[in-house]
Amino acid sequence: MNEQISADQINAAGHLMIGGCDAVDLAAQYGTPLVVYDVSQIRQQIRAFQRVFAKNQVDYTVSYASKAFAAVAMYQVVNQEGAHIDVVSGGEMYTALKAGFPLAHASFHGNNKSYDELVMAVKNHIGVVVVDNFHEIDLLNRVLEELDANVQVMLRITPGISAHTNKYIQTGQVDSKFGFDLESGQADQALEKVQASPRMTMIGLHAHIGSQIFEVAGFEGVANKLVAVADHWQKQFGYRARVINVGGGFGIRYVKDDQPLRPEEFVDAIIKAIKKAVAGTNLGQPAIWIEPGRSIAGPAGYNLYTVGSRKDLPGLKSYVTVDGGMGDNIRPALYQAQYETVLASDPQAPLKEHVRLAGKYCESGDILSQDQALPATKPGDILATLDTGAYGYAMASNYNRNPRPAVVFAENGHSQVVIKRESYDDLVHLDRPYEGK
Ligand SMILES: *Cc1c(COP(=O)(O)O)cnc(C)c1O
Repeated sequence: MNEQISADQINAAGHLMIGGCDAVDLAAQYGTPLVVYDVSQIRQQIRAFQRVFAKNQVDYTVSYASKAFAAVAMYQVVNQEGAHIDVVSGGEMYTALKAGFPLAHASFHGNNKSYDELVMAVKNHIGVVVVDNFHEIDLLNRVLEELDANVQVMLRITPGISAHTNKYIQTGQVDSKFGFDLESGQADQALEKVQASPRMTMIGLHAHIGSQIFEVAGFEGVANKLVAVADHWQKQFGYRARVINVGGGFGIRYVKDDQPLRPEEFVDAIIKAIKKAVAGTNLGQPAIWIEPGRSIAGPAGYNLYTVGSRKDLPGLKSYVTVDGGMGDNIRPALYQAQYETVLASDPQAPLKEHVRLAGKYCESGDILSQDQALPATKPGDILATLDTGAYGYAMASNYNRNPRPAVVFAENGHSQVVIKRESYDDLVHLDRPYEGK
């Protein structure tokens, strides 16, 4: 059986279970394409990160990078688990506010935060603004003056470390659009500017080196680099950093070749590296912050599809087409992301053929998998793509004017819609007839 499914996820009927609910029943009840989250998996993953810090008695914050999947229900669950969030837009802040999430527990990221977004953040008592560039320092100063307010900030550093990962999702190398460069002295200048502002309280340093990372070396490197910068800042400017934020990017298993470490292995390595690095300084033990997105939302998510048409070609791999595709999961088309898909009614069925799993969108590139082993399938069968919870629905579009799917949360045998399926009326509700001549 597929290793991403555990034995207790198969019920007596042999069907796939998600959050204690039969996946075939969920598809029948809510329709397909459908995104389903196993809520207990979200909780377990957050707790796994938190536990290691607590065990090591380190002051910490686990901040869920909510761009991986942002929804009112998701923010509620994250808040219930006592985790913080990263937000990167006014829309994410608005959604978090709708969920009753205290923005004091939020870090605001982004390389081009707008005036309006900064006003929104400051007015709603954002926990931290993670400052990315000089333009932002000026804009934020203006906003703070106008609102007669103060805010905590961190500086985002480009650490000059590239994680061993796909180049589309690398952000830590020197030539990056994110953060202040170290070598050219930009980071020092930024510190001086922020320190000169009476309205900004600088609490620490941040870096994020990429995503879907499988090795601890990148995190150890970034931990060392940030501590070295903090040490330099203490000696040069008398500024003592209270927080070292090493970002997110913890890898997950999408296909069997992916061999991710467990949350505790990543966190252990980060704690050790920071403890070791600060030992030779006068910094004391800083708080350690991490920002997992994919590793919290990804493994908990499933996309359910109904099989439709099929195309067989002599000597070539057949196409099996489902009722979704790049509109609900653009990652395979965007950067050749790979997934495993199983037959929901019998995930243990012997595999009979390798097919291309195609979407229904009008792009030749709309292929969910170039090589998926499947049992025999027929129209009407329900397929479940695994580990789709991060950057799937979050990147969904209305391409071809297809409505976006519903999102269901399942936990302890209960299921509930947390984002409704779009209707055709939803699709046209912003349209206005043209009244020109
Ligand atoms: C995207 C992002 C994350 C989360 O990355 P994952 O790979 O989803 O864990 C964390 N921090 C920052 C600043 C990000 O931009």
